[in-house]
Amino acid sequence: MSDKFVLRKNCRMCNSTNLEMALPLAPLPIGDRYVPEAQKMEVTETFPMDVMICKDCGHLQNSGYVKPEFIYKHYLSRPATTNPVLSQAYKDYADYLLANFKESNDPFAVETGSNDGAFSKYFCDNGLRSLGVEPSPNLAKQANERGIPTLQAYFSEDLAKKIKKDHGPANFFVANHMFANVEDSTDFIKGVKHLLSPKGVHTMQTFYMMDVLEKNMVENFTHEHLSYFNIRPYRDFLARNGMKLFDVQRIAAKGGSIRCFSEHADGPYPVKPSVQECIDLEDRLNARQAKAYDSILKFIKTTKEQFHKLLEPVKAKGGLIAGFGTSIGATTFVHQYELGKLLNFFVDDDQYRHNLVSPVHHIPVLPTNTIYDRKPEYVVILAPLYADNIMKKNKAYLDQGGKFLLFWPEFKIVKELK
Ligand SMILES: [Zn+2]
Repeated sequence: MSDKFVLRKNCRMCNSTNLEMALPLAPLPIGDRYVPEAQKMEVTETFPMDVMICKDCGHLQNSGYVKPEFIYKHYLSRPATTNPVLSQAYKDYADYLLANFKESNDPFAVETGSNDGAFSKYFCDNGLRSLGVEPSPNLAKQANERGIPTLQAYFSEDLAKKIKKDHGPANFFVANHMFANVEDSTDFIKGVKHLLSPKGVHTMQTFYMMDVLEKNMVENFTHEHLSYFNIRPYRDFLARNGMKLFDVQRIAAKGGSIRCFSEHADGPYPVKPSVQECIDLEDRLNARQAKAYDSILKFIKTTKEQFHKLLEPVKAKGGLIAGFGTSIGATTFVHQYELGKLLNFFVDDDQYRHNLVSPVHHIPVLPTNTIYDRKPEYVVILAPLYADNIMKKNKAYLDQGGKFLLFWPEFKIVKELK
């Protein structure tokens, strides 16, 4: 096995070694490793993509992880502020926190995985002392340039001690869509506990494994995500670390996410029914048993067969097929559905990806208008959550006889927009 990949033999939530295979998926490269053509021989590797379930606490996690220096060295991270939908959701989220939990006259807010400050901005706008923690140098720099104080670092218990010494305790500690990427969850939560003020609130937002299961959201299985969260194992993990989960909000972000509110075990906020409601849902779906996840494997198998039945004949007679989108999730689709030999090229609106090639298959990424010039027979939408926008924006491709191919939530050819 590659020296870049480390097996994880114990559960990230409870430390048990009683792990069982839940989802044996096709091996995947690092999802974001698009490189210039001249460097393509550096991106030939795939790593195991097996999701294990802990038989003791029910947590789901990858069987191992790619060492962070190989994932984040060339990370093509996109600034979050470029997304208008996200901006409104973040404003509402910050307003909610301030309306419900502002217990100090001089509150201090820390956000980890703060990207370019897209969320922390709303703390700053409300006059809070705010500190972002962001490992990516270019994003931390952009945040500081926008006046949102940001440390370029990974969050840890050691860093928490330093922040508390320099700034005092945090009334808010926010982690949006980053905790699933954290290898040492225990060190992380110890840091949160150390830094949080006695009445402070920690929010952790992540995609919800029950949404992944019910909606077959395959794009979440990547080497960037190490953990897949259900509420019961997360609640128990917090409890073992002196914290208490007191509310869970299910939100639309990324096709189905949870926003988890926790406090110190002796904190002031009563536990809301939402916590038990999620656990009841997980029990109904047998979330603690490996076989509950078989339906995702079935979905992948069926979708893969539909792709190949439709597209192999097109390819055989020399027809062109393009893929729209080159996100990390798109890489997952290409590998789970074995699209590497079917796609002639990708298109993407993000100019920073143009003229790069994809990992493993070395398929070129071209500007979106290429679909008008080269007129592929099919454009496969590899960003299904944005399919409607993509098709509306590129209606002219349909008008000239092209076809969009959707595969989620169902497999569908689109020849015209209704
Ligand atoms: Zn466990």
